[in-house]
Amino acid sequence: MKHQVPDVIVIGGGHAGSDAAHAAARMGARTVLVTHRLDRIGEMSCNPAIGGVGKGHLVREIDALDGLMGRVADRSGIQFRLLNRRKGPAVQGPRTQSDRNAYKAVMQDEIARMPGLERIEAGVADLIVENGAAVGVELEDGQRLLGRTVILTTGTFLRGVIHIGRQTEKGGRMGDPAAARLADRMRDMALPMGRLKTGTPPRLHRSSIDFSQLEEQPGDAEPTFFSYHTTVASLAQVPCHITHTNARTHDIVRENLDQSAMYGGGIEGAGPRYCPSLEDKVVRFSDKTSHQIFLEPEGLESPLIYPNGISTSLPVDIQRAWLQTIPGLERAQIVRPGYAIEYDYVDPRALTSALMVRDLPGLFLAGQINGTTGYEEAAAQGLVAGLNAARLALGAEPVRFSRTQSYIGVMIDDLTSRGVSEPYRMFTSRSEYRLMLRADNADQRLTPMGIELGLVGQRRQNAFEAKMSSLQGSIGVLDACSVTPSQAKAHGLALNQDGVRRTARQLLARSDVTRETLVALWPELASLPTADVEQIERDAHYADYITRQAAEVADLQREEARPLPADLCYRRVSGLSAELRQKLADRRPATIGDARRVEGMTPAALALLLVMVRRLDAGRDDRRSA
Ligand code: FAD
Repeated sequence: MKHQVPDVIVIGGGHAGSDAAHAAARMGARTVLVTHRLDRIGEMSCNPAIGGVGKGHLVREIDALDGLMGRVADRSGIQFRLLNRRKGPAVQGPRTQSDRNAYKAVMQDEIARMPGLERIEAGVADLIVENGAAVGVELEDGQRLLGRTVILTTGTFLRGVIHIGRQTEKGGRMGDPAAARLADRMRDMALPMGRLKTGTPPRLHRSSIDFSQLEEQPGDAEPTFFSYHTTVASLAQVPCHITHTNARTHDIVRENLDQSAMYGGGIEGAGPRYCPSLEDKVVRFSDKTSHQIFLEPEGLESPLIYPNGISTSLPVDIQRAWLQTIPGLERAQIVRPGYAIEYDYVDPRALTSALMVRDLPGLFLAGQINGTTGYEEAAAQGLVAGLNAARLALGAEPVRFSRTQSYIGVMIDDLTSRGVSEPYRMFTSRSEYRLMLRADNADQRLTPMGIELGLVGQRRQNAFEAKMSSLQGSIGVLDACSVTPSQAKAHGLALNQDGVRRTARQLLARSDVTRETLVALWPELASLPTADVEQIERDAHYADYITRQAAEVADLQREEARPLPADLCYRRVSGLSAELRQKLADRRPATIGDARRVEGMTPAALALLLVMVRRLDAGRDDRRSA
């Protein structure tokens, strides 16, 4: 391979880079992954956890396309929890606490074992552009590496600056150098760039925490995994603990705000609204006297605890002072201080839906460089960029993920059509089709496409086909069983006495019908595989809602051209968040379609806006006809 020009060169071995390189190689492209340090491939720069609501959906989708993140997270998981368990399946998100070192080791092993994927340990200083297309990279030692396509996944490294109080130093994250030359070069190429920031909490020594007074949070007794292939946890399972800040903590933060890098004016970039620092929380939610902190173990053997919920850029002595006010952390020893990092990103509106720079063919961007935050968002983009770079190199058309099909499609459409003004993170509320886009059916939505594209390996294809054939068989059996309302009544099931026969599958959609109810009616159903019945039940349960949701989406699409009054008072649209009201008031979109493209707009908020405008229009018509 060394003598052949690679099809795809991936820069960066973080979360976007790992899944990008693996996806490109799965597509049969000769792939080279160039990253600063091979032993930091798969490094979790911030929290030792994968998934959650929205993010967990993305990981399931990555897995459905045979990507890495889900199975690596499963193999390194030390606590599994399905979030929102009490809510419907559409908004339930799998999450795992990871053993940070195990995660890295498993990821590095997956990358090393992938045929057609070479690794090079080096820094990239420049892009090589010929005839208006990206054709390779120049390494920091001056070597040139030519390739048919290039994917940049440099995370927080472009002109990265670390802030702790008023101290600053250049760095891509703590302990790693920034990528300054590459950032300068990208600015020279007139790519639209901006600055963003994010932060991380101090890491604490486990032995210095008094867990005895804290609430324990165990994982689920029956773990929900990310990968459709995982059946058991590989590592021992451990609990997290919960503690809280208090008024005294907040006082210390408030008294020292001027020393915070985020608040002292030291940082120009916008930070993640949905992952606020402790300083942000104290200022923005000043009426709250307490915030929850999850104490998450960084690994089975690690002496470190990650206190989730208190990222900060205050000076270390102030971090120590407020930590001491928190129950259980009175004597907590800071092993590594919390810090903020500021970095360059590229406005993702410069990208196509294949994540290629529109004006620079052959150059793809994925991950934090596109203005997102989070491992999962990065890995999902990496998969899309890897797939599409490989297809370009191999002479195939780009693949577009649609909003109706996946959260991957929602994210890429949001990024490329709306851009970002603060780090973008996935939420289920971003999708107008969230009842369809569930974590449980990611394989049904995406694996067939992955098989067709050649992105999915034989093992997964076989397992998926076996699953679907069993599911179809079970659907056939359920559809062959039917009852009249009076027969159902004889078994204690109250249906509308309309004389219409209902199949066992239709009955499963009802909340008062369980598998046991069906078995009482048809004992032969006892032998159906549980996984099939559960899946069919979820699909049946959502069928009506999905039809209604599709009608709402169609309604919004029909109304795209409806004008919004120039003097519309957005404060009067009840149910809109303060953030969205402000953005709408600033932007003054001319139509419903324009409002849809405002960053942060959700389908639910758009529906509220439509109701308001229709009401105003109807009032105007009434006045005209009076
Ligand atoms: P990264 O994981 O950063 O990987 C980038 C890779 O590129 C690295 O391997 C690096 O060595 C390599 N690289 C960079 N430049 C070059 C070059 N020129 N040559 C060769 N290799 C290069 N996410 C959240 O969801 N919530 C948070 O609160 C949060 N806080 C964070 C706080 C901090 C301090 C940091 C650093 C990150 C935080 N994150 C947070 C973000 C999370 O770490 C990233 O979203 C995620 O890692 C992005 O993945 P990525 O692949 O884009 O980049």
